[in-house]
Amino acid sequence: MAYLQPRSELRTHSVENQSGPLEGLNAFENDIVLKEAVRRGGASWAEANLTSLGAKIYDPAWMERAELANRVTPELKRFDRFGRRVDTVEFHPAYHDIIGMAFQHDLHALAARDSRRGAHVARSAAELMFAQLECGVLCPIDITYGVIPMLRMHQPDLAEQWVPLMLSQDYDPRPIPHWEKTGVTIAFTSTEKQGGSDIRRNSTFATPVGEPGPGREYLIRGHKWFCSAAGADVIFVVAQAEKGPSCFLVPRWLPDGSRNPIQLERLKEKMGNR
Ligand SMILES: Cc1cc2nc3c(=O)[nH]c(=O)nc-3n(C[C@H](O)[C@H](O)[C@H](O)COP(=O)(O)OP(=O)(O)OC[C@H]3O[C@@H](n4cnc5c(N)ncnc54)[C@H](O)[C@@H]3O)c2cc1C
Repeated sequence: MAYLQPRSELRTHSVENQSGPLEGLNAFENDIVLKEAVRRGGASWAEANLTSLGAKIYDPAWMERAELANRVTPELKRFDRFGRRVDTVEFHPAYHDIIGMAFQHDLHALAARDSRRGAHVARSAAELMFAQLECGVLCPIDITYGVIPMLRMHQPDLAEQWVPLMLSQDYDPRPIPHWEKTGVTIAFTSTEKQGGSDIRRNSTFATPVGEPGPGREYLIRGHKWFCSAAGADVIFVVAQAEKGPSCFLVPRWLPDGSRNPIQLERLKEKMGNR
């Protein structure tokens, strides 16, 4: 399209020394350093997935969604219109499109699903590209990635129950019980006001409902200060148990179909991220 330039005496400057648009470039195919790193790291088998993801990074339609997901920030919905607590976070549909796309490309679970050599390299390459499009969705993605091996290693009984849902590539944003969903997102919270690094000072307490011990039911009472992706379906919560701080899997819904009373107080600004 030809732009009509202002009359020469009205021009203030000419635009130069600016990069051209990246639209249409494949973020994987055109990144020779990344491609070489993937091959050297033994992840050539993942190139089809990486090329397919790479095609979306500079796609104007995806870039527009990323822009929208950043501009139209999430909103905290604490009550429904009848005054019942719901404690959910509402996002612009563009946010859900983007996180759904990340799930399809397996950013949340690639190395947990595929034990081939180079799986972590493949996943890192995907994340490196994805971060060029949008970082706001990476928290639940990365937490899921971290939680799966932790659960498998430390609590295989819970892993058996939860990991299939965590591995799902079918992202499901509906705020409904996890057993009705096609996939879940995960959050994590340890940080409290009196300290983040020093979790020994946590004042959130976990009391056993019956027999104490790993994998048993606990009642947790306390207040957290940071929880990225607070609207997630499952929150891993650090709380003081009988022998010191421990980590608890806290589902948003209880087995009897009632809401687990997790109250979200506010959404806060954290280093440009909401
Ligand atoms: C974008 C973002 C997202 C976050 N998401 C989450 C989340 O999802 N869940 C969650 O639980 N938390 C989250 N956090 C919080 C984060 O994990 C904490 O900020 C972190 O644990 C540090 O705690 P703090 O800020 O209280 O700092 P402090 O622990 O008070 O530390 C302050 C300073 O003291 C130093 N320090 C602390 N202890 C020691 C020590 N023993 N020796 C020497 N130096 C020390 C630290 O390096 C730092 O410079 C998030 C933070 C950010 C910025």
